Amino acid sequence: MKKVVTIGEILVEIMATTRGTGFREPVALVGPFPSGAPAIFIDQVATLGQPCAMIGCVGNDDFGHLNLDRLRRDGVDVRGIAVDPEAATGSAFVRYRTDGARDFVFNIKHSASGRTTLTEAARVVLAESDHLHVMGTALFSPALVATILEAIQVIKRKGGTVSFDPNVRPEMLGLPGLRDAFGTIFAQCDLFLPSGPELFLMTGAKTSDAAVAEILGTGIQAVVIKNGAEGAGFASPTFKLHQPAFPVQEVDPTGAGDCFGATFVTCWLRGMEPGHALAYAAASGARAVERQGPMEGVSSFAALDAFMATHRAEPSR
Ligand code: ATP
Ligand code: MG
Repeated sequence: MKKVVTIGEILVEIMATTRGTGFREPVALVGPFPSGAPAIFIDQVATLGQPCAMIGCVGNDDFGHLNLDRLRRDGVDVRGIAVDPEAATGSAFVRYRTDGARDFVFNIKHSASGRTTLTEAARVVLAESDHLHVMGTALFSPALVATILEAIQVIKRKGGTVSFDPNVRPEMLGLPGLRDAFGTIFAQCDLFLPSGPELFLMTGAKTSDAAVAEILGTGIQAVVIKNGAEGAGFASPTFKLHQPAFPVQEVDPTGAGDCFGATFVTCWLRGMEPGHALAYAAASGARAVERQGPMEGVSSFAALDAFMATHRAEPSR
């Protein structure tokens, strides 16, 4: 089986238990939950039984060990995650507003995650891997951009494949060099997994169809578009499909895109037919929103099969 690797931030998430705006007054909190988009992604890959590894950095503190223990328990190869005694593990405080929007207080760039590099152990892990997944959130500093671009080179040189989820937060778009980094990664990826308006990030196209055509014209093998409760789409040069979302009660949407992407990439690497892969991915995203906590809604194939046996969402061309 192909081994999947990802690189980037490892955080704890601490959530307000009440809805409202931000953190400018004391609020009740729940957590810490293991988190970080790449960490959620790779934990979902592991839960599907796919060989996988993560490259990152945590502090030698409880938040770091919480994440390491969780990833290790679920089957992620954590040899490429450095434990830096000089830094604190990253964190994100999140509070939902009444309309479902989210306010965050992040500590990522100056946390241990900001010290992620290709250590000797990380290079061993890369040498063993066949596929690299890049998360846009991981491109939070020039150092991380350089590390990820180097990892892409290593994977591509050995004939591996790359998937790219731009997963971009609006406040990140202004970071120096980020647009260039996006362009460079986009040009080298085999599979592109944008959410909603991110479909237009790398094109001048005005309609979804034109954007997809332009993206496929660059040689990317397939585009997978995530649209939350509106469902998801798949497009390759020969095949197009819309997969509606499975009807579920949304408790916490954080992590849906990461679980969806992880499940799609795993199925794709196993050579599964795209319609089948998209259905599994949609089931994985739906199950993720049913659970509170970013990494708490990961699914095994058995759980996805059971879910799909009791929930219906018919795809259309
Ligand atoms: P995030 O980055 O916040 O984790 P995202 O924007 O990358 O999320 P979404 O489009 O929100 O990703 O979710 C990915 C997929 O998960 C959707 O395409 C859909 O299949 C499924 N999904 C998301 N939200 C729901 C929901 N409320 N009900 C059912 N399925 C959902
Ligand atoms: Mg996303």
